[in-house]
Amino acid sequence: MKKTFFDLLPPASVAVVVLFWAMVPTWFVEKPWSLVLVSSVMAVFVQFLELIRERHVGWRINKRELFTDIFYVIFGATVIQWLTTKLADDPLAAVKHSLGIETQWAMHLPFLLQVMLVVLLIEFGQYWMHRAMHNSFLWWTHAPHHNITQMNAMKGAVGNPIELFLITLSVVALFDVPETAVFCAAGIQTLLGCCTHSNVRFDSPRWYTFIFNTIEAHSLHHSYTPRYEDTRCNYGGTLIIFDRMFGTYRQGESEIVGQDERKRLTIWEQFIYPFREFMAMIKARKGASVSVSS
Ligand SMILES: [Zn+2]
Ligand SMILES: [Zn+2]
Repeated sequence: MKKTFFDLLPPASVAVVVLFWAMVPTWFVEKPWSLVLVSSVMAVFVQFLELIRERHVGWRINKRELFTDIFYVIFGATVIQWLTTKLADDPLAAVKHSLGIETQWAMHLPFLLQVMLVVLLIEFGQYWMHRAMHNSFLWWTHAPHHNITQMNAMKGAVGNPIELFLITLSVVALFDVPETAVFCAAGIQTLLGCCTHSNVRFDSPRWYTFIFNTIEAHSLHHSYTPRYEDTRCNYGGTLIIFDRMFGTYRQGESEIVGQDERKRLTIWEQFIYPFREFMAMIKARKGASVSVSS
C-alpha cells in the first residue's frame, strides 16, 4: 500500500500541478511571488518525503547539504532569474515584436496543450544544451553539478552560475502563450527537477518512466565512474523522451554519485571552477614574485 502510494506520487503530483494552475484565480497568477511560493512548497514537499521514504542512507540530508541547497535555490530564483529575464527573455520578446512574429494560434489551444508546448520547447532546448555541456568546452561550467556526492530534492539547483544561466535559456518568449501555462510548465519542471534528484524511493510505473525523467535515470547520469563517457547519457531534465529519440537513453541507476575523487565542492569552489586554473596561475606568479623580491 505504502509502496503503491509512493510509486504513483510523481505522476499524481504532476496532475495536481496541472489542475492547480488550470483553476487558480488570475489575481494569484499576477502576484510577483506566486511562482516562487508554489515552487518553494513543492521543494519543501519533496525534501520532506526524503525523511519518510529514504532511497539510500548515503544520500541522507544533513545541515551542510541543506544550507548549500537552499542557498542555490534562492540564488536561482533571484540572481539567475533576473539575468535570464534581462539578458534573454526580454531581448527575445523585443525581437519577436520588431519582426512581427505572431503565434496567436498558441493562445487558442486548450490549456493542457499550451502547457505541453511550453514543456516541450524548454525541454528540447535543455536537452541539447545539457548534451553540449558534456561534449564541448561548456563542460567546465557543468562539471561542478557532477561533483555533488549525494542526491537530494534541491540538488538540481546546485551548479556553477554560468551553467545555471545557460540551462535556463529557451525560446518560449517567441510564443504567445498565457502566463498561467508558462507557470504551470515551470511548476512541472521544478517538481520533477526535485523528484529526479531526490533521495526518495519512488519506483514509478513503466508508462510514466517511458515519458518522464526519474531518479533512476538521473542518478545514472550522475554515477561515479572512472570512465567519464559513461555519464554521457540521460540528458533530459523533466522528460526522457528526447534521450530515447536521439539515442542517449540508458537504463539503470547508480547509488554512488560524484566524479574525480568524489570530492564535494564548496560554494566558492563551484563558483570559481571554470577559472580555477587561471586563478592558480596568478597565485603561482604572485608567489614567484614574492620569493624573488624577498
Ligand atoms: Zn550532466
Ligand atoms: Zn543533476
